Amino acid sequence: MTLLTFRFAPSPNGELHLGHAYSALLNQKLAKATGGRLLLRIEDIDTTRCTPEFEAAILSDLKWLGLDWEEPVRRQSQHFAEYQTMLDRLIREELVYPAFMSRGDIRAFIADTEKRGRHWPRDPDGVPHYPAQDKTLPTKERKRRIAENAPFAWRLDVEAAMARTGKPLAWTEFADETLVAMRLVEARPQDWGDVIVARREIPTSYHLAVVVDDALQGISHVVRGQDLFSATGVQRLLQEILGLPQPSYFHHRLVLGPDGRKLSKSLGDSGLAAQREAGVQPDEIRRMVGF
Ligand code: GLU
Repeated sequence: MTLLTFRFAPSPNGELHLGHAYSALLNQKLAKATGGRLLLRIEDIDTTRCTPEFEAAILSDLKWLGLDWEEPVRRQSQHFAEYQTMLDRLIREELVYPAFMSRGDIRAFIADTEKRGRHWPRDPDGVPHYPAQDKTLPTKERKRRIAENAPFAWRLDVEAAMARTGKPLAWTEFADETLVAMRLVEARPQDWGDVIVARREIPTSYHLAVVVDDALQGISHVVRGQDLFSATGVQRLLQEILGLPQPSYFHHRLVLGPDGRKLSKSLGDSGLAAQREAGVQPDEIRRMVGF
C-alpha cells in the first residue's frame, strides 16, 4: 500500500502565527494517525518578499512546536527549471498568453467600463478579472512588445483550458479531519478569471508551483486553510491540463484573532515568536489552537 503523504507549505514572507501552527500540527497529527509521511515545503518564489531570515525563523518555530518532517525540505526557489518546463508546455499548447496591462491599466479600464454602467466580474477575493483584450493580440504584436522588454505576466486562458479538458472538473474534499466522509466539489476556475501562472522574471506563480510540487512530492492529501478552498478550482484545472495526479483535499477551519478576523502576517500577539518570547510553552499553543 502506498503511504499517505501530507505537507505543510509556508511562505517565508512573514512570521508564523497561530493559524500556521494549527495547520502544521493538524498535518502532523494526520500523518501520524495514518502512518503516513509529513513533508515541509518552503514556498519562496516571491524573491522580493521572501527572505532567508523569515525561513530560518519558520524552521526554528516549527522545531520548537515539535513538528518533525522528512528531509530534504523542498524550496521552490531551487526548482524554477521544473516550473519553466511546465510553463513552456502551456505556452506551446496556447493555453496561456502574455498579459501586458499594469495594475493601473486594469483599474482604469474597469473604471471606464463601470462608468458606462456595465458590471465587471470580481474573483472570490474581490479582485477584478483581467480584461480579455490581450488574449486576441496578434502574435506579431506580442513578439514586438516582448522584444521591447515590455513587462508582462503569463495568464491562463481559462476558457480555452476548460474547453480543452472537455468535461466538468471536481475535486475530492473531506468533511472533517477524520478523513472518512468525502464529497465531490465542482471546480469553478472561471470564478477567478485568467489567473497569472508565471511572470516575465519568475517562471511560475503560486498556483503553478503548488500543483507541480504536490505532484512531484507525491502529495496524496492537501490539508490547508479554508481560505484556499475556492482557489482549489484553479489548481484542479492546471492539474488536468498538465496531466498531473490529483490529491484529495481537506480545507480546515481558520484560527481567528481576538477580533474574530483572519490572522495576518502583521501579527501582534498571535505570532509564534512573540508567544515564545513571552514564555508560552508548545503545549499551551496546542491547546490554544484546539488540540
Ligand atoms: N504557501 C501558502 C501559504 O502560506 C500555502 C499554500 C498551500 O497550502 O497550498 O498560504
